[in-house]
Amino acid sequence: MKKKRKLKRNIKLTLLRFTVTLCLFLIFLNYGISTYRKNELAKINYDIAKEFKYNIDITMLVNYEHKVPDNYDLKLKDIENNKVAIILYNSLRRMMATANDDGIEIVINNSYRSNSDQKRIYDSKIKSYQNQGYNYITAEKLTKSSVAEPGYSEHETGLAIDFSKSGNYTKNNKMWSWLNKNAYKFGFILRYPENKTNITKVEYEPWHYRYVGNELAKEIYESNLTLEEYYQNKK
Ligand SMILES: [Zn+2]
Repeated sequence: MKKKRKLKRNIKLTLLRFTVTLCLFLIFLNYGISTYRKNELAKINYDIAKEFKYNIDITMLVNYEHKVPDNYDLKLKDIENNKVAIILYNSLRRMMATANDDGIEIVINNSYRSNSDQKRIYDSKIKSYQNQGYNYITAEKLTKSSVAEPGYSEHETGLAIDFSKSGNYTKNNKMWSWLNKNAYKFGFILRYPENKTNITKVEYEPWHYRYVGNELAKEIYESNLTLEEYYQNKK
């Protein structure tokens, strides 16, 4: 009998030791992961100031009637086979790392385009409408609803990014809905929302984000305005 009781007590003790060890292990694991994450985010700290003294207006309006300024002082930095304005690089990397922690992969499909890139896209779109039988004037009008005229595209500023994986829309839904909820925290706005086509003159583009900085992005997100409306209200 005594032996049996002793055995029971030993089992209980072993179980207790095991539970305590497991708890300690989990606590340390959690600490390790959060420290690793902090270090990872700290690494994303590209020194923009060292690169240049930037003097571009990140809140500027570029659309069908507002051209990219001639004296626009653009400095670019490479990211995942694309180029972005250096000024948004840190924010973009942080946004991608944070999404990654939430299990969401953010994919850059297209960002900076030079004026001649834009011209090539614009002209080929017009040509494709002409091939469908439209005359030049109609073809150009149709083109303008989805492709900006050279000089009038946000992509020429390096401040706009199209986020999408190649493939159909459903493939991108998770990424786009994450961006829709969170991008403003990193200074990006959904530039062409669904019900604002009459104002932006651009069809709904769930993939197109524009960097305007944290302050304005928050204001625009919370007020549900487009950049156009924000400037109209300011007048
Ligand atoms: Zn775009």
